[in-house]
Amino acid sequence: MEVCDELRSFEATGIYRLDGAGTSTVATFVDPVRLINASYQRFRVVPSAYYSRSFAPHRQKGEPETEQQERRRKRKRNQKSKPTKLNAREQIAEARHKEARPLLLRAHESLVKAKHLLEYLPKTAKGKELGSGSQDNFVELGTSWRAPFYEITLCSREPHVLGNEEGPFHAQRTSFPLFNSIISVEAIDEAEGEFRNRRYILPRGSRFLMADFRRVQDLIPVSPNQGYNLIVVDPPWENGCVRQKEAYPTLPNRYLLYLPVQKLAHPDGALLVLWITNREKLRVFIEKELLPSWAVKDPTVFYWLKVKPDGSLMGDLDLFHHRPYECLLLGYINANTDAKQVSNFKLLEGSQVIISVPGAHSRKPPLEKLLSEYIPGTKPPRCIELFARELFPGWTSWGNEPLHFQDSMYFSEK
Ligand code: SAM
Repeated sequence: MEVCDELRSFEATGIYRLDGAGTSTVATFVDPVRLINASYQRFRVVPSAYYSRSFAPHRQKGEPETEQQERRRKRKRNQKSKPTKLNAREQIAEARHKEARPLLLRAHESLVKAKHLLEYLPKTAKGKELGSGSQDNFVELGTSWRAPFYEITLCSREPHVLGNEEGPFHAQRTSFPLFNSIISVEAIDEAEGEFRNRRYILPRGSRFLMADFRRVQDLIPVSPNQGYNLIVVDPPWENGCVRQKEAYPTLPNRYLLYLPVQKLAHPDGALLVLWITNREKLRVFIEKELLPSWAVKDPTVFYWLKVKPDGSLMGDLDLFHHRPYECLLLGYINANTDAKQVSNFKLLEGSQVIISVPGAHSRKPPLEKLLSEYIPGTKPPRCIELFARELFPGWTSWGNEPLHFQDSMYFSEK
């Protein structure tokens, strides 16, 4: 494809396939905002609200230090004071990093060579503070004694079934218990949810269950054919990161063994995607216990490489505890992965690198379009995200705050 065609296609889809990352490697740059906006008709995600991190340069002499700058300074100081001798686990983690390093560097080089894309990026990802107004804290509200009484009112446009006197649709307002019940958005376009004087923008055809882990069994489909072909899991892994602790509660890692992943998988097969951290202890638990207990076959590792709007890496690639990349493990459940019999999807072949400018802390890029060719079953695939903080059309989202990024403060009207 010509450079201009590739850029035009990127503008339309939010996906830019990068060349030159090596024959067996694929690197893709994505703009999550463009990917998400393809799902909305009347609203759009505001780039400055999505890219809410500050990518500002370091402070000038005499200027007061921001919280982010203070964290960065302390992190560097800690890294310097860290003994250079690694323990046995750290050595294995370092070896994994060394294995991934050439691939990540090649992927990044291919981004740096894509000059047209790089010129375009700063316009796409203008980082700015979010507007004022404090968001609902669903994690707290869901554990309060009032939780069973909270309702959300959905205002949606639905097509007329009989006659057409008032136009092609009529407005409908319906209230639902907000916590512990599955809510489906059945409308001709986005619905608007009203809750405690705040507004939520809900994509057409999305479903969500805002509930704690103890209610996760409610997601199990009544009939196997309503199972899922893509299952994305982004657990609140325990770790020492203070910023994460402030952002959301964590779960003991072993609880994940009780996620009913196999019962969620479609009998025609499912692609499972699990976001993991770079901690070796966790990696061993996942590979030896978690994936086998979920019956996930042939796991492959992908990398999410985080860059700034100027295309440079978010941090030093070799900084031990703060790599500028995260890993995701992908594998199949129920799917017949005998290469000769696979007909309606492509088998995963080796690692790939997804590159993007990150949004809010721990917010992951949307994966459905990127992975569509690897998803088994009929199209469009049935998709679910476990521990979600946002909704997508045609997806079921579960977690204790799946409406977090649906707050209207992230959107503007088209
Ligand atoms: N995938 C999300 C995104 O891209 O924004 C991030 C998910 S974050 C890593 C983990 C989520 O799990 C947080 O929203 C957290 O509040 C939620 N969580 C923590 N403990 C939970 C529990 N006991 N039950 C349900 N969700 C929980």
